[in-house]
Amino acid sequence: MVLHKQKTAFKKRWLLGGLLCTLFVSGCTNDQPYKGEVLQPINRFIYDIKKVVPNANDDFNEIDLSLFQRTPHAWGEFLEGVKTELDTTEKVIALTFDACGGPNGSQIDEELIRYLITNEIPSTLFVNARWIKENQEKFLELANNPLFQIENHGTEHKPLSVTGESAWGIVGTSSPEEALEEITINQDLIFELTGEQPTMFRPGTAFFDNIAIELLHHLSIQPVNYSLLGDAGATYSANQVEEALLNGAFPGAIALLHMNQPNSGTAKGVIAAIPTLQEAGYTFVQLHDFPLK
Ligand SMILES: [Zn+2]
Repeated sequence: MVLHKQKTAFKKRWLLGGLLCTLFVSGCTNDQPYKGEVLQPINRFIYDIKKVVPNANDDFNEIDLSLFQRTPHAWGEFLEGVKTELDTTEKVIALTFDACGGPNGSQIDEELIRYLITNEIPSTLFVNARWIKENQEKFLELANNPLFQIENHGTEHKPLSVTGESAWGIVGTSSPEEALEEITINQDLIFELTGEQPTMFRPGTAFFDNIAIELLHHLSIQPVNYSLLGDAGATYSANQVEEALLNGAFPGAIALLHMNQPNSGTAKGVIAAIPTLQEAGYTFVQLHDFPLK
């Protein structure tokens, strides 16, 4: 396998430091390959993962990516192992806001953030590395405010695939190595800036394959999606956002919204819906306040 890949500015020495390559001969048992046979090398990558994910579920402080070089059988947002609700019957809702970054996604919805702070509404922010790069000061301000739980929304905002599967026209990570980088480079960045490790991950587009989900579990990072589509990728009008929240609310719902599109209807829709939900008895919580299901 040849890796044609641009190394990003975030590329860390740990990626190189722990890299080992071992060649195996495909289809060969104890015989020498006959002359002219094309050898099919299998790269066996071993990363010192404990540096970026100290709670990684691995007794040997490393991850052997050959474990994840398999063909996935499922691709989607709601696969087994992905949490979408709080496990409770209490009237609580977890608002989650993605900050996707990139050329059209690196703004901040000040109106929304100001409302959440003024009214002391706790929420969880899934933040992408590209957004953090563009808004480092603002990111630190949010991360230092206990109203906001900070979680990982990927490094380049790619769907999390081990085979390059696409979602919404965006090509996903193409290998276990790329999937690992999509998770851990942003994990490392957030840790360097805040001193805290994210414990949850939502990929760009919210799509995973089942092997990538296994990889996250192996790292002891929880894949989290949603049960209430709040703004449909920040395309809804304010009325649509309000209706989505009011009609979709149930005890333990996880709402997916965005905090990076100030020209969308998200802020006004959220601001309209929250008092009505409060009157109906709902309170707002962060994802780590309850077990997830
Ligand atoms: Zn996103």
